[in-house]
Amino acid sequence: MDRYDVVIVGSGPAGMGAAFSLIERKKDISILMIDKAPYSTGGMRNDCKMNFTFPIGFPLEYWDQETADAYLEEVTRFLQPTILPKSNIATYQARAERLGCSLLEIRQTHLGTDGGLALIKELQKKLNEAGVTLSLGEEMLTVDKNERTILTDKRRIGFKTLLVAPGRQGFHFLQDVMQSLEVPFVDNILDVGIRVETRIEHYPIVKDYYDPKFYFKEKVRTFCTNSGNAHVVREKYATSRGDIWYSVNGHAYAADESKNNGLVNFALLKTVRFTEPLASGQEFAEHLGLMAALMGGGKPLMQRVGDFRLGRRSKSATFNGDLYDFKPSLQGASPSDISLAMPSKILRYIWSAMKNLDTIVPGILHPSTIMYYPEIKLYANKPAYRDEHFQVEEGIFFAGDGAGTSRGITGAWASGIRASRGMEEYLK
Ligand SMILES: Cc1cc2nc3c(=O)[nH]c(=O)nc-3n(C[C@H](O)[C@H](O)[C@H](O)COP(=O)(O)OP(=O)(O)OC[C@H]3O[C@@H](n4cnc5c(N)ncnc54)[C@H](O)[C@@H]3O)c2cc1C
Repeated sequence: MDRYDVVIVGSGPAGMGAAFSLIERKKDISILMIDKAPYSTGGMRNDCKMNFTFPIGFPLEYWDQETADAYLEEVTRFLQPTILPKSNIATYQARAERLGCSLLEIRQTHLGTDGGLALIKELQKKLNEAGVTLSLGEEMLTVDKNERTILTDKRRIGFKTLLVAPGRQGFHFLQDVMQSLEVPFVDNILDVGIRVETRIEHYPIVKDYYDPKFYFKEKVRTFCTNSGNAHVVREKYATSRGDIWYSVNGHAYAADESKNNGLVNFALLKTVRFTEPLASGQEFAEHLGLMAALMGGGKPLMQRVGDFRLGRRSKSATFNGDLYDFKPSLQGASPSDISLAMPSKILRYIWSAMKNLDTIVPGILHPSTIMYYPEIKLYANKPAYRDEHFQVEEGIFFAGDGAGTSRGITGAWASGIRASRGMEEYLK
């Protein structure tokens, strides 16, 4: 049986943060990183804009400003980001404040999907040089806490300490692991909303601030803005019963005037927190996703703002043309009526946020603007951690979006470092 001092499951930013911290601080240890995907570094392959200001990407259940800042400093030292300039922020902030909303000013950088891939190659090279064994296309199936081994689809592997960082897509897998380790958990929070796509001239703030973070009343916020060569994409999910549904998302390539499509997209998300008797935010999300898939013939939905305001569904025949003057960047969505699929309370809050946003940055309610539904974030597994290093069982740690310790690349990276500090105790 193969044995390593450290086994890291997941090569996303959480796994990377842990690996590079251990390499730097602990010499002469053996590290294995596995990933079920045939390529490395999880969600960093999408857009790769990175935020370096608390609380963006840091769930408040686990992070306070001081702790996050300390780890963010380490992330910054390692990644050496070029922080994007911003302008006219005070003007937008004043407009937002008049409406009881706010615009958070944060440090961010944007590599783009192509720039992200270049970074991933560099990270992989560094891992190789440091002697880390990277095994791609290998999936962890189970863990045996007594034997201190994991079983993958290829072999059994021994560890002294284990980090499981499988990202949002590893939601079900992580729940299985928690059940087998008898770690109590809840997943009672989720974000539900739409992705907005419009012409850059209808949301010109992106020229001043690449990914503006607006906060509206009733816990609605803007999230993950992409512009230039920007695209809406869909992510496939399967329920535990195997039914397929899609969430939309967005990304952009690195700025290149010759390739820009002139569009911008961003999410408007409402945080929903459940209490008794609903046990699982995940199941709620699946029902919403399935409802949308049912209405969209298996696809996510899209509706022009012009149709929405008139209470009409969008139709294929009328979706492009006249005032509806740009083609959606996502071809795999169905023109429809999002209000038939979306819970009315969530829709009301989202629409109120759109009206506020249109007052702060006039243009967003142009009839051609497209609202895609659903955009759902499933990062809300909340295990009962034993300590501040996200330890769940003797020598076994979790980190990243799937484990609820982050909501973005830098937060995931920081949570990987934080977990690794606990793992060091098992390497003495
Ligand atoms: C389209 C899109 C765009 C995004 N854009 C941004 C952005 O611009 N900025 C930002 O900050 N965040 C963005 N995010 C979110 C970001 O990708 C995540 O916050 C981040 O990647 C989380 O890191 P992680 O390490 O927890 O998980 P991930 O990056 O998801 O990595 C987890 C890895 O674990 C692997 N894995 C899962 N289960 C197993 C298993 N059983 N065995 C072995 N391997 C397994 C997966 O294959 C994956 O590679 C985006 C996400 C998407 C989907």
